Amino acid sequence: MVLRKEPLTRWAWVEIDQGALRRNTRAFKNLLGPRQRLCCVVKADAYGHGAVACAKVMHATGTDMFAVATVNEGVELRQGGIAEPILVLSEPPMTAIDTLLEHNLMPSIYTSEFALAYGERAVSCGTIGKYHMAIETGMNRIGVHYADVLEFRREIDFHRGIHCDGVFTHFATADESNGWDYKLQCKRFDEAVAAMKDAGYECGIVHCDNTVASILDGSTHYDMIRAGIGLYGLQPSEVTRPVFPLDPVMSVKARVTRTAHPAMGEGVGYGFTYRVPRARVQICTLPLGYADGLSRTLSNRMDVLYRGMRIPQVGNICMDQMMVAITQTSRQQIPEAQMGDIMTVVGRDGDAEITMDEMAQLRGTINYEVACGFGMRLEKIYC
Ligand SMILES: *Cc1c(COP(=O)(O)O)cnc(C)c1O
Repeated sequence: MVLRKEPLTRWAWVEIDQGALRRNTRAFKNLLGPRQRLCCVVKADAYGHGAVACAKVMHATGTDMFAVATVNEGVELRQGGIAEPILVLSEPPMTAIDTLLEHNLMPSIYTSEFALAYGERAVSCGTIGKYHMAIETGMNRIGVHYADVLEFRREIDFHRGIHCDGVFTHFATADESNGWDYKLQCKRFDEAVAAMKDAGYECGIVHCDNTVASILDGSTHYDMIRAGIGLYGLQPSEVTRPVFPLDPVMSVKARVTRTAHPAMGEGVGYGFTYRVPRARVQICTLPLGYADGLSRTLSNRMDVLYRGMRIPQVGNICMDQMMVAITQTSRQQIPEAQMGDIMTVVGRDGDAEITMDEMAQLRGTINYEVACGFGMRLEKIYC
């Protein structure tokens, strides 16, 4: 008998395929030369996949560094036993400095005020605060402007309490790796790093590639790549799909909590946006909703998988539940569902599959946001 792991307290959950996570992590390692490093981006709870559990798999597969978006995400990794260097991908408020030092988290830095305050506090703690310098090369989000890097380093480098462990930038349009905008960011970064090195400033680990740039342009790997979405088996762009196969890591499942055959004309859910159109329609309830990341904009537009077939979701998606309809037609006779039957919201069932990309397209967003959403409340089961 195959024992399926499932949450004890709820009939809806996320499954995380650790084998897929391992294979994807290895695929990124294989892009690198022996002296190049892999930084695994596990921000936003590893894009909804569970940061500590995923980091442990990545650690075992060979990652050199982790990146997070917030200081608290870094603390969570430390408390989960992660010992690799951890980079916070933006400059937090100065009130975070004690927490950074206490947990050995490296901030990204781009203001001299923060750098000097960080150094002062490090000295008074008898340590040296490592940091990565973010360089603004065109995305216009964060970082020291590429033309100001020398002036910035002159302002802070005298301080004995700080050490530059790395310098980096981030691409806005790396999916168009032959595009002028991407090339310009590369050039600005390259020149800024060269200028700092020429002037004798320590640059540490030089890095700029996210998933899509890592895949499409080997010339910008420098000392490290920062892979995020691809680790989770999701394509960052349609252009990488044919060249870099990845295995989806997350699926979303639920068991039917109720079945019923409302009479023709009965409404389903808030506002009755669906009415039972005919006889012999079975309405099944699944116990997950928009608070679990299943956007309400998908109401009456998405399918779920049941016995390898697609069946439509009906009525408005509620905060914690939704309904699906099994409709018998002359063309299709579907066995009716029983309470407790498993339905797949994202993932594979037989030959059928619902992908994060399909759901993203229906929602008018990207797979990144869909995956993050499912991480909000559903319990994660690691298989
Ligand atoms: C999120 C993020 C990444 C990872 O991006 P993916 O597209 O998920 O690979 C890398 N670098 C920075 C600065 C980021 O914010």
